[in-house]
Amino acid sequence: MSFASGILTGKSAIVTGGATGIGSFIVRKLGALGANVGIVSRKEENLISAVNEFKASDDIDVAWCTGDVRDPEGIKKSFDQLAGKIGGIDILVCNAAGNFICPTEDLSWNGWRTVIEIDLNGTFNCCQAAFPHLKESTDGGRIISISTTQADFGWPGAAHAAAAKSGIQNLMKTLAAEWGKYNIRSNWISPGPIQGTEGVDRLIIQQGLADQVLERVPLGTFGKGEDIANAVVYFSSDTGRYVSGAGLAVDGGSQWNRGR
Ligand code: NAP
Repeated sequence: MSFASGILTGKSAIVTGGATGIGSFIVRKLGALGANVGIVSRKEENLISAVNEFKASDDIDVAWCTGDVRDPEGIKKSFDQLAGKIGGIDILVCNAAGNFICPTEDLSWNGWRTVIEIDLNGTFNCCQAAFPHLKESTDGGRIISISTTQADFGWPGAAHAAAAKSGIQNLMKTLAAEWGKYNIRSNWISPGPIQGTEGVDRLIIQQGLADQVLERVPLGTFGKGEDIANAVVYFSSDTGRYVSGAGLAVDGGSQWNRGR
């Protein structure tokens, strides 16, 4: 899928967790289509090496700032700093997340709390931090949260992530209702299993579950990071102008193939 070149020229975008995995594909795509992009996450070394890589392989200048999405005041400072570098915030992509597999009876309070704090509370913190900037966006701000197909079902072994992602989806619906008057759209994307990501490598391939997972994907393959990035462009550009409070599954049809 290709979009008209320069479709995002003049837009400024922050991608949380943009140094790795799906986030890095989103950064590449937004940057290639003309957006000024900033990335934020905890590890400075990951951010610097990603920014160097974006420049070397795609000739994209990406701004960066360290920040932990769990820290409301810290993330506000990071966003303000990045907004100063990239010219505001028109697009916020809430992509940062953490997850691990653990049966619920063995899940510690700390494990539960950590995932809820990064995924759900972190998304809330980022939306609040970006709000004053999104409100100023000339063509209307965009929030795109990265959820998962699993959020709409029970997710054995990942009660924490399933609850957090469901909460994120509901937060996007509420913000669509509350912040529409500020011309801000809030939507989410539900990826299926995306190849070449840390999550699929650790949670699926290393557990020997690749064949089992692919059996549930009607299109028969893992997705690509670019598939998610294309959906982000849809929501970020004029194509998604009248869409708010909506979710888009990019999962090869797997949400409708839960077995008998
Ligand atoms: P990933 O490579 O592990 O990326 C996660 C990113 O989040 C990292 O860059 C990490 O950077 C950042 N991060 C984690 N905790 C943070 C915190 N407290 N504050 C700020 N940044 C933090 O993961 P991925 O597989 O590409 O997943 C990206 C998104 O897609 C996630 O929302 C995930 O739930 C969703 N998803 C992925 C798949 C898949 O197949 N991979 C499927 C469905 C949904 P630092 O370590 O530097 O902080």
